[in-house]
Amino acid sequence: MKKQFKASCPMDCTDLCRFLVTVDSQKVVKLEGDPGHPVTKGFICKKGRALLSRMYHPERLIHPLIKKLTKKGNKFIKISYDEVFEIIEKQLLSIKKEYGTKAILNYTSDGYGGIKNRIQNIFFNCFGGVTQPEGSLCWGAGIAAQQYDFGSPKGHFPDDVLNAQTIFIWGRNPKYTSIHLYKLLKQAQKKGSDVIVIDPIETATARAFDKYVRINPSTDAALALAMANIIIENNLHDIGFIEKNVIGFKRFKAYASSFTLKKSEQITGIDKKSIKTMALQYAKAKRASIYIGFGMQRYHNGGNTIRCIDALGAITGKIGKKGCGVNYAAKSISPYLNDLYKKSRIHALNKRCFTVGNLGKFLKTVQDPPVKAIFVAGANPLTQGPDIKHTRKNFAAVKFKVVFDHFMTDTAQQADIVLPAASVFEQDDLFSTSMYSPVLNYSQKSVDPPEDVIPEFEFYLKLAQKLGMKNLGFKTSKEYLEKSIEPLLQKLGKESVLLDDHITEEYLRIKQNDIPWKDRVFDTPSGKIELYSEKALQDGLSPLPAFIAPSRADEMYPLRLLTCHTIDSMHSQGFAFNNNKPVVYLNRKTAQKFNLQDKSLVYVKGINSKIEAYLYIDEAICDNTAFIYQGFWHKSGAVNFLTQSITSDMGKQAAYYDSFVTLEKTD
Ligand code: SF4
Repeated sequence: MKKQFKASCPMDCTDLCRFLVTVDSQKVVKLEGDPGHPVTKGFICKKGRALLSRMYHPERLIHPLIKKLTKKGNKFIKISYDEVFEIIEKQLLSIKKEYGTKAILNYTSDGYGGIKNRIQNIFFNCFGGVTQPEGSLCWGAGIAAQQYDFGSPKGHFPDDVLNAQTIFIWGRNPKYTSIHLYKLLKQAQKKGSDVIVIDPIETATARAFDKYVRINPSTDAALALAMANIIIENNLHDIGFIEKNVIGFKRFKAYASSFTLKKSEQITGIDKKSIKTMALQYAKAKRASIYIGFGMQRYHNGGNTIRCIDALGAITGKIGKKGCGVNYAAKSISPYLNDLYKKSRIHALNKRCFTVGNLGKFLKTVQDPPVKAIFVAGANPLTQGPDIKHTRKNFAAVKFKVVFDHFMTDTAQQADIVLPAASVFEQDDLFSTSMYSPVLNYSQKSVDPPEDVIPEFEFYLKLAQKLGMKNLGFKTSKEYLEKSIEPLLQKLGKESVLLDDHITEEYLRIKQNDIPWKDRVFDTPSGKIELYSEKALQDGLSPLPAFIAPSRADEMYPLRLLTCHTIDSMHSQGFAFNNNKPVVYLNRKTAQKFNLQDKSLVYVKGINSKIEAYLYIDEAICDNTAFIYQGFWHKSGAVNFLTQSITSDMGKQAAYYDSFVTLEKTD
């Protein structure tokens, strides 16, 4: 008999859909969007739908595996969980004794977004504290920027964009990365809102709206400062709002005054008239919102860029009001689900951190103690991190590695033990995203996992038990979920509840966050918007939002490399069975400098390595830029063989887009 369940999309996506899952005879037979979801309203994308074929794919890992040296080289063979526990227990205890727990590196990320898989982080805190990444591969500079300006990054409830008369989509491609925002933008356009897309690339989103403004990469701060200058010169700033709510306006005004239209035109490549028109339109609109993308902060100057754009909202008083805001992230629910992890930190007496984008360098140079074991879950750093040529070599050199995943990823290939991960449909869990959707998804277990799969949560519970650890703070999945949701329920003034009985039908959200800063109480030290931030100064940064000149190409590597998300895959997940070579897109003017034919196979050569790719001429790409979608695995030519480990100005963000390449004919 068919049964229906509700499960969350587990992917690292802004939108966080919930599915209706139809199960027949212990098999998921249908996946649809849940029309009752307040943000995504029953509309899901192909990445979400592909979860079903991934779950039943013949190449999915469904047994624990160990790497053994055979006559034919290294081979993964099946192993029992008893043996797995014995080996891991032995390794952990001997490393702890000989080197201390810091010699263990714990690497987790958001390949699966449910809170249950945070158990790996809790486990290692309770084990005594280990080495772990800090910073971000994704959005850290922008988060840090909004923390300096507003105290925390909060976004408007998605439907509020319909209240805006003017909407700036700045360095964001929602048609590919946030389809529900895209749908709302189309609705807003129909209602008469003006949608302006600013991007170095003429993206699918840019083509879908009337106004596209091309900007030189890494120069957005100069545009924002020139717009601010025009607004102030024309007396369109909101003095009343500024006096009550903003710190540092005078100093900001003086700094922005040097960003004349002429100067900004030279830097950004946008003509003076367009800059002025955008500034006036933004300031004059009663309700105007800005949606910023993450790509814009993947440069060495990324954090300051976001601060300069935040300033536009601050000086025009377009913060804390309907149809306004500078929307970058939406940290609403997630801070309330983190209690157990926070509590576990008291056990992490030997913690050590490294900047996540520097994994390769860190592994090579770290001493006292060197890294002797790595545990990876929900992540594929050997495809997704920068400079994977060196990272792979240094990762491989570590003595003992354990990787959880659904498929034999590039990272799993380098492991000693590979453990099968459970699918989202095989366990109950809680999901939230801090990016766009502000609602909690409770995800029901729909089917049992394959016989020889122990979900990560159960695995670590057992491992802790075997090691005699009694400090995790919970003993069962139910207790974990209930304790995790407790602070949120308290915030909402709700009774502590049994999950399955009560919140399956509900979409909890903190309604006060629908229009952030409505009360004009900001989370900064002063309680105001801090255009001048003492905190930034203490951190060794410019206290004011600043334009930092873009990095420059040189003769050997004349093309800036941009590596954005494709519509088909969440990072590398959708490339498991894609054996094609990537495409490198260049506009005709840039391609002509290399004397290479359209559709020909070329080498794309970076400072560290080279890959093969098909050259496609595409006028959507800006000058002197090579564009390759990220996510391809090593077998195809992963783009991160070409990127370098560079860190942004704030938030320890990997500055992927400060990598440069050249093109050559293949042999
Ligand atoms: S990937 Fe995003 S848009 Fe697609 S189904 Fe999942 S949450 Fe929804």
